[in-house]
Amino acid sequence: MSEKIKCLIIGSGAAGYTAAIYAARADLKPVIYQGLQPGGQLTTTTEVENFPGYPEGVDGTQMMEDFKKQAERFLTDLRIGAITNIDVSTYPFQVKTDDNQSLLAESIIIATGATARYLELPSEDKFKGYGVSACAVCDGFFYKGKIVAVVGGGDSSVEEATYLAKICPKVYLIHRRDELRASKAMQKRAFDTKNLEIVWDSIPIEIIGKETKFSKEVTGVIIENIKTKKKKTLDISGFFVAIGHTPNTDFIKGKIDLDENGYIITNPNSTATNVKGIFAAGDVQDKTFRQAITAAGTGCMAALEVEKFLAEKRN
Ligand code: FAD
Ligand code: NAP
Repeated sequence: MSEKIKCLIIGSGAAGYTAAIYAARADLKPVIYQGLQPGGQLTTTTEVENFPGYPEGVDGTQMMEDFKKQAERFLTDLRIGAITNIDVSTYPFQVKTDDNQSLLAESIIIATGATARYLELPSEDKFKGYGVSACAVCDGFFYKGKIVAVVGGGDSSVEEATYLAKICPKVYLIHRRDELRASKAMQKRAFDTKNLEIVWDSIPIEIIGKETKFSKEVTGVIIENIKTKKKKTLDISGFFVAIGHTPNTDFIKGKIDLDENGYIITNPNSTATNVKGIFAAGDVQDKTFRQAITAAGTGCMAALEVEKFLAEKRN
């Protein structure tokens, strides 16, 4: 017989743990499946300085440990493993785990996040967290007053580049084509920013930097013009990758409504999906803000909406 779960939370990032804290305190006995990255994206970063409550900043992994402890304090059932399938045609929803267990869930909060895309250069990997970042709003402050580069050509890249241009004397926007993919309004914003230089038809081929036994820092990026094949080095201290994110929604494709980029569509001012009883929180339904605080906020909303859904179902 399949195990029955009142509130199943899929994912253990800021959204999943916050949903668990609220659901557990409402006696919904939440069960979290943590997935392949317990703690989520923040475990891949060093310093988090913009999450309220940590006046001195906090290491990302430590912050997620704190979230986890708080969820466990209210007896959240934390499990290792991933969810591979949800049958939305049955109720309770029949759910499969990666070790082939079957669960019956009365409500589900999907908080599986999104994965930032990187260029996959070995040098990029080497300097991740030490000058290479996929989030200007998160890490830009560390490069205040320094010269930086952003790679990409979509809305995110322009948003990141113009954000950085407010705190950095010079920002290069490296794009592989001769026109931006970003919306016309965002393009205008880029063209109107005096200290933003767009480097057209170019791709980064190597991030260069200094490495000692105790630290690493980026000092430049070698780029190649794909038309002329000419290479040159830009002297920079920070390299921001903004070539898109991939929402972790493969396992629900065709079952829950997704937008053209694969993000879960939720109702306005709500975390409800098109399937009654299934809610979505965090980066998996948010391609705009993608911050820990907004993920936590929607995690809270999802748990409150689950509580209401289960109460109405009983009446
Ligand atoms: P995630 O953190 O992405 O967590 C998703 C969770 O879902 C993971 O636990 C994963 O294992 C799990 N999962 C995925 N698929 C499955 C499945 N099938 N079954 C079960 N579990 C699954 N934000 C800030 O506010 N401040 C910062 O300083 C900051 N710095 C950042 C630095 C970097 C390098 C990056 C990449 C991001 C940063 N962010 C920062 C953004 C922040 O990390 C995200 O907005 C936040 O983590 C989103 O939380 P989430 O819970 O929605 O998803
Ligand atoms: P995106 O629109 O998919 O743009 C990704 C950009 O990265 C493209 O310009 C692409 O180049 C480039 N790129 C992809 N892979 C690359 C590689 N390997 N090397 C070099 N460049 C590469 O992603 P996004 O900008 O994150 O936007 C995602 C969605 O969110 C969009 O719908 C966007 O409109 C929306 N969004 C909106 C706002 C806003 O309105 N304020 C802000 C952020 C995001 P090509 O152009 O050559 O393909």
